Amino acid sequence: MKNYGLNELREMFLAFFEEKDHLRLPSFPLIPRNDASLLLINSGMAPMKPWFTGEQDPPRKRVCTCQKCIRTGDIENVGKTSRHGTYFEMLGNFSFGDYFKKEAIIWCWEFLTERLGLDPELLYPSVYYEDDQAFDIWVNEVGIAPHRIAKLGKDDNFWDHGSGPCGPCSEVYYDRGEENGCHSPDCAPGCDCDRYVEIWNNVFTQFDNDGSGNYSELSQKNIDTGMGLERLACVCQGVGGLFEVDTVMSIINKVSEISGVAYKHDPETDVSIRVITDHIRSATMMICDGVLPTNEGRGYVLRRLLRRAARHGRLLGIKCLFLCNLCDTVIRENKEAYPDLADKAGFIARIIRIEEENFGKTIDAGSAILNGLIQEYATRGETMLSGADAFKLYDTYGFPLDLTIEILAENRMTTDESAFQELMEEQRVRARKAREALGDLAWAGIDLGLDNTPSEFTGYTNTSGISTILAIVTQGEVSSYIREGDEGIIVLDKTPFYAEMGGQCADFGTISKGDAVFEVTGVLISNGGKYLHHGTMLTGDLSDDDTVTAKIDIPRRRAIMRAHSATHLLHEALQTVLGEHVRQAGSFVEPDRFRFDFTHFSALTKEELAVIERRVNDDILDGYEVTVEEMPFTEANKLGAMALFGEKYGDTVRVVRMGSSIELCGGTHLDNTAKAGSFSIISEFSVASGVRRIEAITGKNTLEALNTLRGHMSVLSGMLKGGAPEELPGKLEMHMSMLRELRHKLDAAVSKDANDEARRILTGARTIGGLKVISVVVEDVDLDIDKLRHIEDTLRDWEAGVVAVLAAVRDDKVTIMAGCGKTAIEKGVKAGELIREIAKICGGSGGGKPDFAMGGCKDAGKLREALDAVDGFITSKIGVS
Ligand code: ATP
Ligand code: MG
Repeated sequence: MKNYGLNELREMFLAFFEEKDHLRLPSFPLIPRNDASLLLINSGMAPMKPWFTGEQDPPRKRVCTCQKCIRTGDIENVGKTSRHGTYFEMLGNFSFGDYFKKEAIIWCWEFLTERLGLDPELLYPSVYYEDDQAFDIWVNEVGIAPHRIAKLGKDDNFWDHGSGPCGPCSEVYYDRGEENGCHSPDCAPGCDCDRYVEIWNNVFTQFDNDGSGNYSELSQKNIDTGMGLERLACVCQGVGGLFEVDTVMSIINKVSEISGVAYKHDPETDVSIRVITDHIRSATMMICDGVLPTNEGRGYVLRRLLRRAARHGRLLGIKCLFLCNLCDTVIRENKEAYPDLADKAGFIARIIRIEEENFGKTIDAGSAILNGLIQEYATRGETMLSGADAFKLYDTYGFPLDLTIEILAENRMTTDESAFQELMEEQRVRARKAREALGDLAWAGIDLGLDNTPSEFTGYTNTSGISTILAIVTQGEVSSYIREGDEGIIVLDKTPFYAEMGGQCADFGTISKGDAVFEVTGVLISNGGKYLHHGTMLTGDLSDDDTVTAKIDIPRRRAIMRAHSATHLLHEALQTVLGEHVRQAGSFVEPDRFRFDFTHFSALTKEELAVIERRVNDDILDGYEVTVEEMPFTEANKLGAMALFGEKYGDTVRVVRMGSSIELCGGTHLDNTAKAGSFSIISEFSVASGVRRIEAITGKNTLEALNTLRGHMSVLSGMLKGGAPEELPGKLEMHMSMLRELRHKLDAAVSKDANDEARRILTGARTIGGLKVISVVVEDVDLDIDKLRHIEDTLRDWEAGVVAVLAAVRDDKVTIMAGCGKTAIEKGVKAGELIREIAKICGGSGGGKPDFAMGGCKDAGKLREALDAVDGFITSKIGVS
């Protein structure tokens, strides 16, 4: 057997099945399209569900792919078994109602043994124990001795989704030799240890499960196979696990180099090296496909992978940011198969760097909280941190348990790990329930009893048309009519209504026949491509097969088109002004308003926003013609059309051009940019790390905003006693300078008042050891703290040898201030000490600097006593009496 590289094996597999008449398709992006049941694509068949269920027709009945997969369910296995990664590639050949078991099995064997030259003696097939057909094919067609075929049960070898298409599987295991096994006498294909590795699974979807466990034969039988590319490479290269496969090993080596920790040296550090290697592969591929780190859904999966990798980096003793460099190795090893990795290399590294920096901060913040807890526990004399506290640190602050344990140990403390695990388990159950709920929803849906021809959309050119009603749904059930007052869904054979998709909201309007009018207030597309018009029957009734007039609300549509065309102009302006790294990361277009999310790393400056706004308005005023053309994807790519992140395009795409903007877009657009009227940015802020959002308005909304502003202006003008808008700033300035002048006068009056008071107080000073000592209660009805302070400052300015203790009583609250002049301080009398000393006497506290200090007093009855203590304090300091 030749030692094939991973990239070579991918090509050999796809070429082999092309020879068998399969259509080779590129990997679908990791973000599922139109499938709420799945966070991330986890198998070759996942993105093909509509082809398997028959909801949509596949491009050919035989298809083969190499699909990027993420399996977060395997996260605990990563680093521990040698055959699981969270990211891996799955090779697969698929038949939709075409060939079945016999061809699938024979070709599977032919590829492994003849094309790759694997030793047949080391390969063991397995079948579902009731699947005699598959067993016979292995024995009679392929020639495998019956005792070498494992018959496994439902858990291992029956693929079932609870309801819908399902069927038995037949796997192929590779024997990696006794030395890799668990040495149990029962060790055989299907065992959990690393000896027999499952490399290929052939699923024969031949039954339909009605949801209650009743199985009927499907009329269209399918083949769905999956073989892990890394596992195959591992077997072909004769290495110990998927981490030692050529392309993955380069990452391992890089981690070793950065950390200075050798691989295969210590089982514990090996786990860390493998976890980092696996997670950086997943993270790089996910970001490339448009996932960004967030706190929910797939964004959270990415965040956890990156944080876990960073954490294991710390365990290896890596002190600096390193993941943002490590992704370069992943990109280098994979860009041949996935060229967009190279295009987005800079972007991927930046996103990882931001996340890594943030995680550093999390660790710092978590450590601070944990240290606080440690002190609290210590004052109570406890040494075991509760499981709930450890879990809160983990769950709320993202602080890892192992780090908690490590820091606790340094403080001779432990944590209640079993309570922690219980809380963890509760959370897992909650998460699983949430996933199951989603899954049920996705497979349920209402069967409209219709074929799979998509509805015809006429709305690019027409705003109304004659259609036929194909189906009606009311009260959640298919019905043949809808009555006045009912809410429901109407399905038409063709429609001018744009359904909500690609970030553009739906058209509203009416479906009518004579006096019978159905008001449309929402439109969605079913998986089978049918337009579902949601709304209410305003007057009369409608039935199946009725010929009706479908008419959209034209002013609304125009307002949507104004906003949508403006998003294209904005996208272009952002790229020109901010740079090529700007990519659209989502948008939502409504009548004359939209939000637009894009990748960028800092808040936009006022100047940048002004330049961008002006560019878009210039493009509008220049009145560029908007052209729409359909062409093959490859041609559009050559034109440099901006394609969206994570979006899957068909072979033929719609290219929308206006001015220098070229984009792939299925939305409805103006025919000339001038019709957008005008464009105004209302806000710009951050929505996730590295992603910013602009909210903007167009057309009538900008006019309305202008009118609102005018309204405010006229109110302002009324308050300033009239004047044209351009006169208002001058008038306001006049009012403000008047205010400033008044304030000035008031301050002068207050200060004169304070000076008079200071002079009066100073005349009452007594002399102790050359110092002028004052301790009085200031009785002034208008006194506030500022004035008291002012008196203190004045006294110190006038008299370097002053020690002035002033008390003021207001609303039963006593404030004491002490001020010491320069000479007094030199002689050792400090205001801070003085205040502390005397406040104690009247049950209060206080403190401050040598020249000035403040305090309070709780017991007003003892205030006099406190003031009398001043002299004693001074003599004790300067040593005279
Ligand atoms: P296992 O029992 O080993 O976890 P599985 O039954 O989950 O495998 P399938 O769902 O049948 O695997 O997926 C098809 C193929 O994908 C497997 O035969 C294997 O080659 C590969 N595969 C599955 N999970 C992983 C993984 N986590 N990492 C790498 N390859 C995998
Ligand atoms: Mg598995």
